[in-house]
Amino acid sequence: MSIIEFKNVSKHFGALKVLDEVDLNIDQGEVVVLIGPSGSGKSTLLRCINGLEMITGGDLLVDDISVLAGYAKLREIRQEAGMVFQQFNLFPQLTALDNVAFGPKHVRGQSTQEARAQALALLDKVGLKDRADHFPNELSGGQQQRVAIARALAVKPKVMLFDEPTSALDPELKQEVLNVMRNLAEEGMTMVVVTHEMSFAKQVGSRLIFMENGKIAVDGHPHEILAGDSNPRLKDFLRHVH
Ligand code: ADP
Ligand code: MG
Repeated sequence: MSIIEFKNVSKHFGALKVLDEVDLNIDQGEVVVLIGPSGSGKSTLLRCINGLEMITGGDLLVDDISVLAGYAKLREIRQEAGMVFQQFNLFPQLTALDNVAFGPKHVRGQSTQEARAQALALLDKVGLKDRADHFPNELSGGQQQRVAIARALAVKPKVMLFDEPTSALDPELKQEVLNVMRNLAEEGMTMVVVTHEMSFAKQVGSRLIFMENGKIAVDGHPHEILAGDSNPRLKDFLRHVH
């Protein structure tokens, strides 16, 4: 069953067409890795899924709810689709624990005690139980990003969206974040990941999509796409990622 359905979706910023009649179905449990040149529309595609950007043509359903169905429905969609950004975007004045407990307390209306207990379990899951009382500026970039993942998971999303989650990290810190993402994938989480980490795409991705000029240019299994020479511009792109 598809949990995300793009139906002829377009997105314009003024006269600029950033998504060009995109059709795309993503099934539950898929790990979709999205690659493509800068400006090809990857971030916009992700941001349309959880309503951070509004589509300007077509329709987009998340768990059968249209992003066009109004504000109340959009709030539902935002809870179903957790987002992790390149710049971790943690609340600087809150501890790791309170960052993770924030959503359940304020969005889901959980009690403080319940939210904190769950937050601690999530920090444990991302390997940071012992950093619960640290503030973001006391954590490494990799640790901050793992807190951001725990925070997104805290509202129990059905889909996780990652926009270049390791691009701001030093090489030695990337792996700890990718490992957390790999564990999530193994648990069956549906994920859409914009990344240039091709080893992650190969090892964890169930599907690889290459975007170009707001269109899906190549879509298939990572192994097949990366082994073959399906598309000359994809080949050229891949030569420049490493
Ligand atoms: P990518 O993530 O693949 O690099 P983006 O989705 O960020 O691409 O951007 C696609 C195009 O849309 C770019 O040309 C970018 O400048 C433009 N764009 C993105 N966000 C906005 C915005 N809020 N207003 C105007 N143009 C935007
Ligand atoms: Mg981007």
